[in-house]
Amino acid sequence: MKFLLDTMMGHLVTWLRLLGHDTIYVREASDDDLITMSVTEKRVVVTRDKMLAAKLKKLGVKTVLLETVDTVETLAKIGSETGVELVFNPLNTRCPVCNTLLEHFQEAGEHRWICRGCGKTYWIGGHWRNISKVLEKVRATASGR
Ligand SMILES: [Zn+2]
Repeated sequence: MKFLLDTMMGHLVTWLRLLGHDTIYVREASDDDLITMSVTEKRVVVTRDKMLAAKLKKLGVKTVLLETVDTVETLAKIGSETGVELVFNPLNTRCPVCNTLLEHFQEAGEHRWICRGCGKTYWIGGHWRNISKVLEKVRATASGR
């Protein structure tokens, strides 16, 4: 699933990219530009702007209106409203920095990723281990709705 975020929302961009979703973050675009982009690129819009959300819904653009800054709550809401799968797949994950699909390889039995977009390399460290913990919470929150 492809997403368009109209405002910086914590680590949401990073999260959606890690989970393999093509996610762009648009700053300083007019509502009309943003609407055109979401329609032509078939992106789900994630916003805090109630007026914009109402406009988009009228046009049939899938929109998630956020009311919380909590990452777990936010991901759970996106999951339940769009039906998107919120699972981490090492073979389908994107660069948190530039949104390029990462190339996976193994080195000494460890997962490694390289981004051909910005040249960054990634490996499983402390913050990667938190991913599964957060996703567990997201699933628990979503199923409790
Ligand atoms: Zn990159």
